[in-house]
Amino acid sequence: MLYSKQIPIKYDVDIFVAGGGPSGVAAAITAARQGKTVFIAENNGCFGGSGTAGLVPALAQFTDGERFLVGGVGREIRNRVVGEACNYSRAFMGVKVETLKKTYDDMIVAEKNIRFSFFTRLIDVIATDGHIEAAILAAKSGIFAVKAKIYIDCTGDADLSEMAGADTEFGDETGATMPSTLCSIWSDVDYSQKNDKNFMETLEKAIRDGVFSVEDRHVSGFFPYALDSSVAGANIGHCFEVDARDEVSLTKGMLRGRSYMAEFGKFYREYIGGPYKNAHLCYTADMLGIRESRRVVTDYKLTGSDFLRRATFEDEIGRYAYPVDIHIMKPDKESYDRFLKEYTQDMHYGVGESYGIPYRSLLPQKLSNALVAGRCIGTDRQMQASVRVMPGCFITGTAAGIAASLAVKHEDTRKICIDELKMLIQEDFGPERTKDSECGSCMDRVYRY
Ligand SMILES: Cc1cc2nc3c(=O)[nH]c(=O)nc-3n(C[C@H](O)[C@H](O)[C@H](O)COP(=O)(O)OP(=O)(O)OC[C@H]3O[C@@H](n4cnc5c(N)ncnc54)[C@H](O)[C@@H]3O)c2cc1C
Repeated sequence: MLYSKQIPIKYDVDIFVAGGGPSGVAAAITAARQGKTVFIAENNGCFGGSGTAGLVPALAQFTDGERFLVGGVGREIRNRVVGEACNYSRAFMGVKVETLKKTYDDMIVAEKNIRFSFFTRLIDVIATDGHIEAAILAAKSGIFAVKAKIYIDCTGDADLSEMAGADTEFGDETGATMPSTLCSIWSDVDYSQKNDKNFMETLEKAIRDGVFSVEDRHVSGFFPYALDSSVAGANIGHCFEVDARDEVSLTKGMLRGRSYMAEFGKFYREYIGGPYKNAHLCYTADMLGIRESRRVVTDYKLTGSDFLRRATFEDEIGRYAYPVDIHIMKPDKESYDRFLKEYTQDMHYGVGESYGIPYRSLLPQKLSNALVAGRCIGTDRQMQASVRVMPGCFITGTAAGIAASLAVKHEDTRKICIDELKMLIQEDFGPERTKDSECGSCMDRVYRY
């Protein structure tokens, strides 16, 4: 069926950002602060992506244990929420979803160069020979176009890159991806109660008793929002074989995620007990938590061997240090043991160690005026599983915002001065690159409960 229609150009700006998750917010604010006009389109009713609409309950590490790795907008966001946050594990910081949402609102609204709307979805791209001419969006008012000089893909799923004709990769060699999780909020959790149960032994008993419909030992667990709070966010229940590119698969994932809640409620109340003996489910997210989707094929593919060699690059736009965190692909014990070894030993840094992220990993091959930031930058699966966490997305989003500002002049993301890019990133980073009291590499697992 052919469908064609005359549509209005609703915005004509320097930079268009698709998706308002951590990477999109960082890219939009950073570009606006460089004096460029920006339109950012977000499909949900709030900014923050998986971290807000998806109810992901914690921010991962911002440091390598010695130095702050996340500057600019990312650190500003962290500093705005840290007062209310819960640093119960030194690698993760529990954050109230509403605090994070309001922080994003306030920061975006304060930028006079940014225009935006929620409930606005990128549905197509007009591109000729790798040059994007317009983004096509659908919203309540109908279908409209946005014209820009540079386009940044922060959709997490590489929607913009794919629509513009860039190559993408998906999953492992069989097309399988990490499982998704429907995150949730629970009330009546009493952290003043003692918890002396051995988690894994208790979980094994519950599996033997048939509490769960899936034999899944990989339970990330509850993250208290604040130490004095009786409300906690939960990252529990893997939905296997969800394809983030397909709404029918996503729909099944949502149904499955909701159906797991009764099983986990029984497990936490009746088997773990203690702080959880009265725990009650309040809310499940409106957005399925997608860990892995398309990865854009870029000028450089960041790989697991770059992680192992603590790589540095000439065109480095930042460094990061979170371990390779590939959640189990199959719910069996061997998979979980393999995950634990990789996450806590083989692909896990010591204090002060990190890897570089090159600018080329943000440059979709085949596209001349586009950048990608966030969890779908150009990596292999191992590296995606490190850089995908929110502070990693702040780093790539910030760099994309600055690079896009430089690229506006020639409408070409490869016609910029890399030294100038690095200098502006350094300036934007701010003064505090040195030691921070927050350790980033220590992976005490208290959050499991
Ligand atoms: C279950 C789970 C637990 C996690 N735990 C942690 C954790 O503890 N700590 C941590 O730091 N990270 C964690 N992460 C990772 C982290 O939350 C995400 O990887 C990160 O938010 C990715 O940021 P992003 O900006 O790339 O994409 P997303 O956060 O996915 O945001 C993408 C945004 O783009 C919008 N969008 C998508 N397509 C379109 C379109 N076509 N048009 C318009 N808008 C669109 C979406 O609505 C969304 O708001 C977790 C992830 C999951 C799934």
